Amino acid sequence: AARTSGSARATCWTPALGAAAARRARLRDDVPGAADRGELWLAFQPIVSMTDKRVAGVEALLRWRHPELGEVPPREFVPIAERAGVIGALQRWVLREATAAVLVLPATGEAPLRLAVNVSAAHVADRTLVEDVASALRASGLAPERLVLEITEATVLAEGDSVAVDIEALRLMGVHVALDDFATGSSSLAHLTRLPVDVLKLDRSFVSRVDRDRQSRALCEAVLTVGRSLGLQVVAEGVETPAQLGVLRGLGLDHAQGFLLSRPLPLADLVGLLRDGGGLLWPGLVGSSADPV
Ligand code: C2E
Ligand code: MG
Ligand code: MG
Ligand code: MG
Repeated sequence: AARTSGSARATCWTPALGAAAARRARLRDDVPGAADRGELWLAFQPIVSMTDKRVAGVEALLRWRHPELGEVPPREFVPIAERAGVIGALQRWVLREATAAVLVLPATGEAPLRLAVNVSAAHVADRTLVEDVASALRASGLAPERLVLEITEATVLAEGDSVAVDIEALRLMGVHVALDDFATGSSSLAHLTRLPVDVLKLDRSFVSRVDRDRQSRALCEAVLTVGRSLGLQVVAEGVETPAQLGVLRGLGLDHAQGFLLSRPLPLADLVGLLRDGGGLLWPGLVGSSADPV
């Protein structure tokens, strides 16, 4: 809103830009100590199996409660932490906290709950990812098979060879690997021939239009077909409406994640939800009366 009238051509500086730059500088100064000051926390969003309608796993999502700026979203501070060279420390904190947290969750079905953790491109570039994952697993005692590392297509593009080497090492340890934001990249299908992954996370940008336009629906169908023929699990991200879930189930979707099923929750709320609902998480049973199918 703030603008210096008439000076826009002469200078790039405006009060609004100045405020944004000041905020970035503040976040850059404060992010290195955020973990030690106890300002970081994790939200956990359930991932629901379409076959038994139960929670099959959770994705850990990093949160920063800044003492003065309030909640800062990860899309804002993760890139800042990457540029400041402190993402490794942040990721180690996430891995330690998340692997310990998932062990306190009540069981919801036959298979133990899986934990998905997001990986940073800069952490791959540091070449400490594999070692940091191994040490978090050792410290918590979590079985490697319960951990899924989510790597975005952008990371694959930026860190090509290192990603392939790390994925290989992680899978040898028994850890599973997911391609996050799948189908947003320029050569999504080509990546699958080079990278041995276990899970595809179909990006929200397609999921959000799957019930409304033919292109999105065709793309979701193609990803599900490829996933099935390669033996990969497909998780739809950002499912917000019963109509979206209905179409995706019709196309043979395995797992869904999104506000329709549950928002990302603090650990204590997640424990409560799993205990009360027995892990049965389905619109119509929890919170809403809408029937998705
Ligand atoms: P992502 O890994 O693709 O995570 C999914 C994002 O979609 C989360 O945003 C989640 O809250 C949001 N979401 C889930 N369901 C819905 C829905 O139905 N509707 C809408 N509109 N959004 C939904 P969040 O938590 O803000 O995280 C944003 C991104 O930040 C993540 O995208 C991930 O790339 C990154 N991130 C989060 N935690 C970490 C972390 O521990 N490490 C790293 N390196 N990146 C992280
Ligand atoms: Mg993710
Ligand atoms: Mg994603
Ligand atoms: Mg996404």
